Amino acid sequence: MIAVAIDGPAGAGKSTISRTLAGKLGFIYVDTGALYRALGLKFSRLGYDTTLDCDIEDVLKGTKIDICFIDGSQHVMLDGEDVSGDIRTPEASMMASAVSAKPPVRAFLLEMQRDLARRNNVIMDGRDIGTVVLPDAKIKIFLTATPEIRAERRYKELIEKGMGVKYDDILADVIKRDYNDSHREIAPLKPAPDSVIADTSELTFDESVQLLYNIVLEKMD
Ligand code: C5P
Repeated sequence: MIAVAIDGPAGAGKSTISRTLAGKLGFIYVDTGALYRALGLKFSRLGYDTTLDCDIEDVLKGTKIDICFIDGSQHVMLDGEDVSGDIRTPEASMMASAVSAKPPVRAFLLEMQRDLARRNNVIMDGRDIGTVVLPDAKIKIFLTATPEIRAERRYKELIEKGMGVKYDDILADVIKRDYNDSHREIAPLKPAPDSVIADTSELTFDESVQLLYNIVLEKMD
């Protein structure tokens, strides 16, 4: 099986680029952020905020997360309910960032991610795929762009979905999440030493896909 690990900060275009690339390569695309988002949603539905003042392991014991693929697109199930839409709000993003800093949460999701890569050719995106989840992945890419460009892209995406958001709030969220993700003690966001850094700040979507496609083909030889 071949694994392509794609890590990088929020809004670098990982999911859209990875999905398209997976289609071109005939691999399955695994968006691991969705798993953390689903867990974040669970905690917020239980009434907890980002301080997560609760017995996390106890909540996890009563939680079931599953991933399934419908027409090639990933759906995430939380306790049997498809929450793929509900996990995309800015609030869900902040909760995902908070839960993802908790070691029991990371342990809870680790084996599931590895198992997917054992059974399929995958493009898996996240924050720690090349460093922790799949340290032996054949191809590792660290996808990044400036915070302003990433905030602008996320802003447009949410506006297109009809959400009433402000650019400045999105930029502040991006900066805060970058800080949380790269300063946490467990599995912090950082490029694996053997990863290729791809900066898409100056690239269009098609150019970004092409750049990654070229990197993958080169490394597969
Ligand atoms: O990629 P996405 O923005 O959907 O991820 C949501 C949050 O989940 C991130 O801010 C990050 O805190 C967390 N995450 C993580 N490790 C991953 C994927 C996501 O910690 N592999």
